[in-house]
Amino acid sequence: MGPSRFQARGWGQERFGQHGRLLPYVQHADYPLTKAALIQAMRLRIGKTVRALKRFLLADGVKLEASSRCQLKCVVCPTAKGENRKGTIGWGDLTLETFERFVRNNRRIRHIELSNWGEIFLNPALNEILSVAHRRGIKLTANNGVNFNSVRDDTLEALAKYRFRSLTIAIDGATPESYREYRRGGDFNRVIANIEKLNQFKRRHRSRYPVLTWQFVIFGHNEHELDRARAMARSLGMNFSPTFNAEGWGPQFSPVKDRDLVRARSGIGAASFTEFREKYRRELVMPCQDMWLSPQINWDGKMLGCCVNVWGDYGNVFESSLDECLAGEKYRYAQKMLLGHAAARSDIPCVKCHFYQRHALTRTLASSWPLRIARRVLLAKAV
Ligand code: SF4
Repeated sequence: MGPSRFQARGWGQERFGQHGRLLPYVQHADYPLTKAALIQAMRLRIGKTVRALKRFLLADGVKLEASSRCQLKCVVCPTAKGENRKGTIGWGDLTLETFERFVRNNRRIRHIELSNWGEIFLNPALNEILSVAHRRGIKLTANNGVNFNSVRDDTLEALAKYRFRSLTIAIDGATPESYREYRRGGDFNRVIANIEKLNQFKRRHRSRYPVLTWQFVIFGHNEHELDRARAMARSLGMNFSPTFNAEGWGPQFSPVKDRDLVRARSGIGAASFTEFREKYRRELVMPCQDMWLSPQINWDGKMLGCCVNVWGDYGNVFESSLDECLAGEKYRYAQKMLLGHAAARSDIPCVKCHFYQRHALTRTLASSWPLRIARRVLLAKAV
């Protein structure tokens, strides 16, 4: 396939990349870079900015993990290795009773993200949680990711019936062989069959929800399957979102081999998080924003602040309250520390995190004038 008309005019990936503003959104648009794809990317960016602004102003969203348990043995995952089980995160499920109490006591919360370290579909009370949220008009998502290997039929139906908003399904490969290289214990064909069944329920309930996204972590063993996976995602009615091998979890498993191919075919314009950061002087993902936009709560009520934190907590929202935890001295201090307005303090979990160690948030917020304004607003909310 030759270059598109748009690329031929010089708006190819490189030029686009120099601006570095829309790149993370292009990954959701169809490849190659056509004018329509760019418009779609711009819409996504604007939509995401508006949603973030709304969440900041209304403070109406949290992340509340439905289950920290997982049945797979993904190679470098701290849950699969048993590290999370022994630490702050632990091993358990959100109960229906605590979920009901939480939404009753926090009526301003209108959006709850349920996924983080575990597989939400292992929670035996999930159907009831979906039903309660639907009755109360609360939007549920699992955008952090699910493996979708073990989902009961009645749960698949509940996702469509109760208008579960969006699901990101981790499928790192377009064949059973490449999929199981990393998702040990998982079954590619079962995941695809579950997606097809869910699509049938969506049709039966005339629901466009949940919106489905295929997340593809690019490894050396699956990089050649990017285009095939993108085409499969499209045929299943899913968005396609390639991403990179995690950093900060020790030596990389199966690093990318053909960096040029990944740069070109991923739609991200880089071959790793590090390369993206060096090239565009900002982060591809910025979990620190959870501390303001959508604080992460563990399944047992521990306030974690963000989805990366496994080192400590800022109180317990089930034992005290959400507002008390967010207004606590430790939480406010962490926010100021992240913005570079307070010195590192050893009791703040962030000091152990690679995002803080390389000043990820302060650097990103210094990278353009709108973000410099955003920094002032975030700081005002932290004081
Ligand atoms: S520095 Fe790490 S632990 Fe702290 S908010 Fe950012 S991502 Fe979370």
